[in-house]
Amino acid sequence: MSQQVSKPIQNKWQAVPITKQEPARRTKNFQEVVLGYSEEEALAEASRCLTCQKPECVKGCPVGVDVPAFIKLIKENKYQEAIAKIKERNSLPAICGRVCPQEEQCQKHCLLGKKGASVSIGLLERFVADCELKKGINVELVNVSNGRNVAVVGAGPAGLTVAADLAKLGYKVTVFEALHTAGGVLVYGIPEFRLPKDIVQAEVDYVERLGVKFRSDSLLGRLYTIDELLAKGFEAVFIGTGAGLPKLLNIPGENLCGVYSASEFLIRVNLMKSYKFPEYRTPISLGKKVAVIGGGNVALDAARCAVRLGAESVKMVYRRTRDEMPAREEEILNAEEEGVIFKFLSAPTQFIGDEQGKVKGLQYVEMELGEPDQAGRHNPVPITGSEAVMDVDTVIVAIGRTPNPIIQSTTKGLKTLIGGIIAIDRETGQTSLEAVYAGGDIATGEATVISAMGSGKIAANSIHNYLRGKEEKDVLPAKTAI
Ligand code: FAD
Repeated sequence: MSQQVSKPIQNKWQAVPITKQEPARRTKNFQEVVLGYSEEEALAEASRCLTCQKPECVKGCPVGVDVPAFIKLIKENKYQEAIAKIKERNSLPAICGRVCPQEEQCQKHCLLGKKGASVSIGLLERFVADCELKKGINVELVNVSNGRNVAVVGAGPAGLTVAADLAKLGYKVTVFEALHTAGGVLVYGIPEFRLPKDIVQAEVDYVERLGVKFRSDSLLGRLYTIDELLAKGFEAVFIGTGAGLPKLLNIPGENLCGVYSASEFLIRVNLMKSYKFPEYRTPISLGKKVAVIGGGNVALDAARCAVRLGAESVKMVYRRTRDEMPAREEEILNAEEEGVIFKFLSAPTQFIGDEQGKVKGLQYVEMELGEPDQAGRHNPVPITGSEAVMDVDTVIVAIGRTPNPIIQSTTKGLKTLIGGIIAIDRETGQTSLEAVYAGGDIATGEATVISAMGSGKIAANSIHNYLRGKEEKDVLPAKTAI
């Protein structure tokens, strides 16, 4: 296989470079782009860690992984112990090692980063997680079941974290998932070349082996309401249903054929496996001139899928500049290497169709950055008379997602905020209802995998405290849930 070859470490201020598939090759397949550290590379990178007495990196991790401790274990070649150390706080390390924005979290606080490159904590986490996957995941035995039932709604990173943490404490956890498979955005949103599906499945399997029961194809709010779950013997419920509804531009022509929301496009590519056509007979209709609207991770994922599906040109149309793009820098660079063209300071104003109702043009207006707002963000302002039309035959709109309202509209007394976000106490994850907790994108708006997991950890802890308190008052034995 032709690959970029990583160079040996130069000095302690430089991180060990990572090996990736070469762009010319990877644009023709959906295999993972980043190939991960070899043992030699991981040891060299781990040796850069200063093992600080007061590690700031831990503070930067929303789930509080003891970073210096696991890196020290890598240095001692104790990979099994290193993964066990990570799993004390994080049940999904192979996933987080791949998609967490570490540069904004743990690595941002690394002392080495003040003078040179931070330790590549994410790549080291991925290294030990992958070592364990190759060997077979070791599942710690849960003490005795306490017989108490908890329901989790939604099998994304928030729900999986709550389920794993409570199972480790002896709870009988049932996860209700609307789709046929668990993982949430990790399977239906993030493409194979960034996060392989078998990695997600292996970590879901780990959660299952902790004793968690999964009920797929179970759309809550329809199959059962939250009240019905509580009446059926679940003593607490966690809602982690994410933010799966696409935001739209609401401009003329958005209903034309060939205009997709990124959610629909990525679900067709990932979940319906059009990336595996003709092995799976579910192709997606994609033209040759693709425009993707937006500047976040979702927009980049859609653009890079379009490249791999054979589009001749893929342009990302974003209304601010590169500096304001919310996507990860590493993924922007990957997209550039793969030939994605960036059209900054441009906002769509309408889509133009042909006689058959198929999109053929994208009218846009050029923008300039106005004064910064209170948060310091420059608002884009249209430049009068700068309208132009871009030739396109496919458009993918990736400007954000909002919560699905089904649970909120079927649960009496559940307080929500603007946009359907479920209101919670940030310290505990509790909603306005007793015994009902929420976390992840449904309670924050679209965020990140690790923030969803962080809120899952808080909720699991609160559910445990709540049920322990209840146990002391209970005179009846715990009921059996459905
Ligand atoms: P989700 O992952 O959305 O999971 C919610 C689950 O609940 C889903 O499985 C859904 O089917 C299920 N569900 C919904 N309604 C019901 C119901 N009524 N009954 C039963 N089940 C239900 N974050 C990063 O950190 N790094 C990245 O690189 C990154 N890239 C991304 C790329 C894309 C394309 C997208 C869309 C998001 C990306 N994110 C990334 C964001 C991240 O994936 C989310 O913040 C995270 O998945 C939120 O987790 P969650 O558990 O709250 O919700």
